[in-house]
Amino acid sequence: MALTAYKEKREFDKTPEPKGTVKASKSKLTFVVQRHHASHLHYDFRLELQGVLKSWAVPKGPSLNPKDRRLAMMVEDHPVSYATFESDIPAGNYGAGHVDVWDHGTYEPIDEDAKVITPTEFAQNLSNGSIKFRMKGKRLKGDFALVNMKKDEKSWLLIKHRDKYATDEAYDSEDYTKKSSLAYTAKRNKDKAVKKK
Ligand code: MN
Repeated sequence: MALTAYKEKREFDKTPEPKGTVKASKSKLTFVVQRHHASHLHYDFRLELQGVLKSWAVPKGPSLNPKDRRLAMMVEDHPVSYATFESDIPAGNYGAGHVDVWDHGTYEPIDEDAKVITPTEFAQNLSNGSIKFRMKGKRLKGDFALVNMKKDEKSWLLIKHRDKYATDEAYDSEDYTKKSSLAYTAKRNKDKAVKKK
């Protein structure tokens, strides 16, 4: 795993994004979903694997409704430190626009039978174009799949499995944007602190 493409696309004296290195989290595998209001609003879905964040841009955002098959375009690996990035990428830079953390937490790689597998096995499944994983986030919980559409390497579908966390209601990530973002939490904590004074 390397961050060559990530670094090539960015000028780090012009963007506040982390330069980052290939470095795994200390214990559990992490994930982040970032709401990225660039020229087109989308959600960046990132799963830590082998010291980087494997990344997909999901135009409509993730869904907890198993009937939804959300298009997910694979993009370049990001550094693990990107998971806490929330800021404005200035105009003129790659991905210019606002980035908010929409959800974050840990995940477990699983196999077809929902049994936990090793990161090495998971990486093999990824290169075969089909992965399953169990998410432990605040918004995203339970089992999901990402499946390559085979028409090209970059087009995948993000699908929720039917479990106790699934919903049959229409699911729009935008409905959950503000309350789940770190920017929102930071502001709320600040407001609370001001009230105490
Ligand atoms: Mn993006």
